[in-house]
This record gives sequence, C-alpha cells and structure tokens, in this order.
Amino acid sequence: MQIARVALDVPLHRFFDYLVPDGEPLSASDIGRRVRVPFGTRSRIGILVDLSTASDFPVAQLKAIEAVLRDLPALPPEWFRLSEFCAAYYQAPLGEVMLSTLPAGLRRIDPPAARSQRRVTKLLPPQDPPELTAEQQTALATMADAGTGFKAYLLHGVTGSGKTEVYLRLVERALAAGRQVLLLVPEINLTPQLEARVAARFPNAGLVSLHSELSEAARTRNWRAALAGSARIVLGTRLAVFTPMPDLGLIVVDEEHDASFKQQDGMRYSARDVAVFRARERGVAIVLGSATPSLESWANAADPRTPARYTLLTLHERAVANARLPLVQRIDTRLEKLQDGLSGALLLAIEKRLARGEQSLVFLNRRGYAPVLACPCCGWISHCTRCAANLVLHLADARLRCHHCGFESRVPKACPTCGNQDIQPFGRGTQRLEEVLTVRFPQARILRVDRDSAKSRKQWELLVEQIHGGAADILVGTQMLAKGHDFPKLTLVGALGADAALFAADWRAPERLFAQLMQVAGRAGRAELPGEVLIQTEYPEHPLYAALVRHDYPAFANEQLREREQAGFPPYTFQAMLRAESPKMADALAFLATARAWPQAGGHADVMLYDPVPMRLARRANFERAQLLVESPSRRALQAFLGEWGSALAAIKAPSRLRWHLEVDPLEF
Ligand code: ADP
Ligand code: ZN
Ligand code: ZN
Repeated sequence: MQIARVALDVPLHRFFDYLVPDGEPLSASDIGRRVRVPFGTRSRIGILVDLSTASDFPVAQLKAIEAVLRDLPALPPEWFRLSEFCAAYYQAPLGEVMLSTLPAGLRRIDPPAARSQRRVTKLLPPQDPPELTAEQQTALATMADAGTGFKAYLLHGVTGSGKTEVYLRLVERALAAGRQVLLLVPEINLTPQLEARVAARFPNAGLVSLHSELSEAARTRNWRAALAGSARIVLGTRLAVFTPMPDLGLIVVDEEHDASFKQQDGMRYSARDVAVFRARERGVAIVLGSATPSLESWANAADPRTPARYTLLTLHERAVANARLPLVQRIDTRLEKLQDGLSGALLLAIEKRLARGEQSLVFLNRRGYAPVLACPCCGWISHCTRCAANLVLHLADARLRCHHCGFESRVPKACPTCGNQDIQPFGRGTQRLEEVLTVRFPQARILRVDRDSAKSRKQWELLVEQIHGGAADILVGTQMLAKGHDFPKLTLVGALGADAALFAADWRAPERLFAQLMQVAGRAGRAELPGEVLIQTEYPEHPLYAALVRHDYPAFANEQLREREQAGFPPYTFQAMLRAESPKMADALAFLATARAWPQAGGHADVMLYDPVPMRLARRANFERAQLLVESPSRRALQAFLGEWGSALAAIKAPSRLRWHLEVDPLEF
C-alpha cells in the first residue's frame, strides 16, 4: 500500500494523506509533481511532497488521488527548501506557501486555454556594449575573483553610474557558464527599458518576464520555460523570486531598497531577503544594487560596528563621459511668501527651462487635488466613513476618494452638515499643482504623472513616450516618476512638501525620503545637459538635506544607523508585528492581550513583547486595527519564539469576524 502525502493550499500547518491507486504506483521521482485530489466537496490541485507506506489516519478513511499531472517536470528539491524556509521564517503554512507561489494556471483544475501571446518586448537595435569605466571594471573584477559559491554583493552606485551595465556583464558571464539568471525588479511597469535592454543584449537567452500584469496563460508559460531551462534569464517582480530554475547561477536585485519587494498580504515576505536566502542555499552569487540601499543592506555591507556580510562595491561617478551629478540646492521657504506653494526661485528656474526648451519636473508625493475638503463655517471635513482617514478630493473626475479603502463618492455641492456652499479644498496634491502651473505658465505643455494618470502599463508607456518625445515642458509627478527612467531633456527638478517626512512618527520615513529625493534628483541632467534640483524646505539645515546636497548617501546612512542603534531599532534589533482587526477595537485589543499573556513567553528571555496599541490608521474599511510589537536583539531567539507562539496564536478563541496576521520584519508601523 502506498500513501501519498500532499501539500494543499489551506491555512493549516499540515499535509494530507491520500491513497495511491493500485494500478499506478508512484516513485520518488514523482515527488514534486502536482496531483489532483478530492478535498471536501470538490477537487483541488496539490503537490506531492512525500510517499509513505503508513498513515497516522485510519487507512479506510483515506481517499485516493484522482490524477497525477505529468505535464511538468517535478518541482526540484531546491524549490522545496525555499518553500520550507519561507514557511518557517514567515510563520506561514507550508502548503499555502507552496501553492501560492505557483502561477494561478497551475493551481487550477481547469485553467483557461492559452491564447496566443500578444505583447512582445520591443526590441532595441543590437548595440555594442560600451567600454567599461574604471569603476565598473573594478567591481566586475572583484566579483570574478570571488569565484563560485555563495557571495552577496551590495552594488552601491549613484543614478546613471552604470549599475545596469554591470548586471549585464554578470549575466553574460553566467550565461557563458551555462547558468540561468534571475533578475528581480521592483515594478515591471516602471522598468520596461531594462527589459528591452536585456532582450537586446541577449537575444538568444529566451528571456521571459514574470509579473502580476501578465495574463494567467503567459505567466504559466514563462514559469514553465524557467523550470524547463529553456528560459535562461527570468526578469520579474517579487513573486518571481520563487521561480524554479534548475541551473540558477546568479541573482540580481535591482533597486533593492524598494518597498515593492515586500509582499503586503498573505505571506508577508521580502523578496530581497528571500533572494539572499536562496542564493546562499544554492551556493550562487547575489548582487543587490541601488543608489540608496536599504539601511539593512548597508549595515550588512558597510557598518563599522559589525563584520561585513556583504561585499560593498561602489560606483561614484556617472558612466557617460561628462554627465555630472545635478546641483542640489535648498530653498528656505521661511524667507518668502510662497505663491500657491511655489517659491520664486523655483518659478524662475522653470521659466528658464521653458525659454531654453528643456523640461522641468515638479515632484510632490501626494496624488489627488487636495488631501481634504472642509467647511470653514462649521468645521466639517471630508472623512471616510469606513476609515480613520480623510477622503481625498479628486477634481479631475469630481470624486472624493479614500486612498485606504477605495470608498468614493460625488463631491458635495454644499456642506453636508450646515449647507454652506463655499466648501474649500485644503492642502495640495498633484492635480492642484498641475492647475496652478497651468495658470502660471499658460504657454507650457504640462503632463501629470501619478497613479491616477498612469493606471495601466499602457497609459504609463504612453506618458513615457510623450516625455521622451518632448511633448511636455513641465512634468508634475509623484515618486512614480522617480524610478528608473532617463528623460534626456529634463534638467530641473523641484521638490515640494518633503519636510513632512522629517518628523513623521514612522522612523523609517527619513530613509524613504532620502531615497526618493535622491532618485528623483537622479532624473535631472542625465545626458549632456547639466541638472539642477531645488528642494523647498523650512529646515534647510537638517542633516538629511545637507547629505543630499553632497550626494553623500554613506554619510546619511551612517548617521541613521547610529540613531537606530541608540534607539534600539532595526537593523540592531529584529522585529515581528502581530496585527488584529475587528469591527470592535476592544476585540482586537483583547486578542492581542491574550497573545501577549501566552504563559510560555517567560521562557524566552531575549524576546520582548510590547503592549498592544491601536494602529496609526486605527480603522480601515470598518475594521478597527491594533498591533503588538515583538522584538529581540537576536534573530535566532525571535525565530524560536515565533515558532512556538505561532501555534499558540492559532489556538486563541476569537470572535468570528476578527482577523489577524503575523508579519516578520515589518516595514511599516
Ligand atoms: P544605472 O543603472 O546605474 O542608473 P545605467 O547602467 O542605466 O546606470 O547607465 C546609465 C547610462 O550610462 C546609460 O545610458 C548607459 O547606457 C550608459 N553607460 C553605462 N555604462 C557605460 C560605459 N561604461 N560607458 C558609457 N556609457 C555607459
Ligand atoms: Zn458646514
Ligand atoms: Zn476609507
């Protein structure tokens, strides 16, 4: 008698036993195949994880496997180890991890029929690779000297320093050695240029992309090509980190600091961290690249307090001859009365660009027209009824919209409480800025670029084309515009509203602000035209801005690390967050209090449990939210604690509408 142990996509920390039909015995080589099994009232796809001759359950009660799917090679052992690591590290049920990382088409009983592929990567004309700069050569030589085996590198290079060229040379080496390459990027929408560059450089490598905007069929096909080994390069977003690749020889994580690598629901993993684990497990090199590395990665590479775990490689200079870094200046906004939020210096600088036929970008990381609509008579403000947040005014389509729960409504003509017809927008978002600039510069062509104007990849590509084609004089945009794009005619960047992040309750806000400003500044003057960046601020003497003016990321990072060490924040401690949400705050807090009172917690002396508190956004979509922070100076101690605590949490009796989750290494508070 053969018993098949099967992983299923259910929130339980266990596998399920099935009988193997007599006529069709399975062998060890079938482990890792998908199987169809009856579960409850229907059939499901699972993964065969083990074969046995006995079961802990009465054999008479076991059902039989319905089918073994042999359309794919079995998932390799490395893929199992990756899933096991994630399940253990992120406290997620293994079956859920395994199944959720497969493309949906392979998880379904009847996947939709594949349609022919439409979108083809635009092929750039083949170009001879440039001659490497001295810094690029040094970086590549260092990596070559390290030989084979696991090695992690942090490639810190200013924008335009030629990091991508370094990746391409590494890819070339790996391909020549007969290995596959995994290239991870934060958001595929924002990096079509990279895809085109890789495709042009390696036209015969069967490059495939993997991201959530692909059709189910395309994603399945690309994933299969990676598993079969016909795709030698996989370029994808965070979910691609789980792609099985039998000959994996190199992993590159571009813009490694980007928060998009963090999955925000289900299993809350960091694709960057998973990638590092995977490289170690596979014994291959991993390169993390950024102009503004995450402080975690920086600490791993360059923290004087701790031994370096990553090798730091630095590109100080821009790669293109004569392309200099932009001149960054602070504009002290305390010294003048701003005109619709714009300083005289910025207005003048824009005017100069208009006269010279160059582009300007005004950066404001807040979309919509105004963050709130208010009645000056009675004090009414546009609250979201479902969240502890305001409704944002979107004048372009005459809606009030909640950025947290998606609720929307018409814009009222008069105050809903007192009937006053003169209700006012307060504050400023990109739409309002666009309006102000239109009035100021009627002759200019103004283009707004944010999540509202670039909802789809198509819209985004169209906008980028317009910008490249010189169809815009002034760009108004959010951080979307800051990522990975060369705009050759852009020579001026003005940044508004940056100060808010200096004093935010979230202690990671300065790190994000610095990265954003550095990235957005990197857009200015990439080609032969020198760039200028003007930052409007009331705190011009703040060290963050001072470091920015000098393009001195290391100074900023080291100062931040010093502060974090003093305050006992990551990366000097390790954290996990237990969050609960429920229609009633009291229930959420009570759940967390029970979790905190877990009797065995005392046995984990190195682990500290804080008091449960309401979250900053204390209500979202009619759920009250609270959280409990767990902290330890030792990752190992934290993991040991979470392993036991996780099972205890599952046993807590909670009201039926209460939801909770545990997040390891949370990024947001
Ligand atoms: P990063 O990824 O660091 O922002 P890129 O690799 O995109 O930088 O390079 C920026 C620009 O410099 C690109 O236009 C690229 O073609 C060019 N470039 C890169 N390396 C070299 C080089 N060695 N010589 C000349 N141009 C280069
Ligand atoms: Zn009113
Ligand atoms: Zn809401």
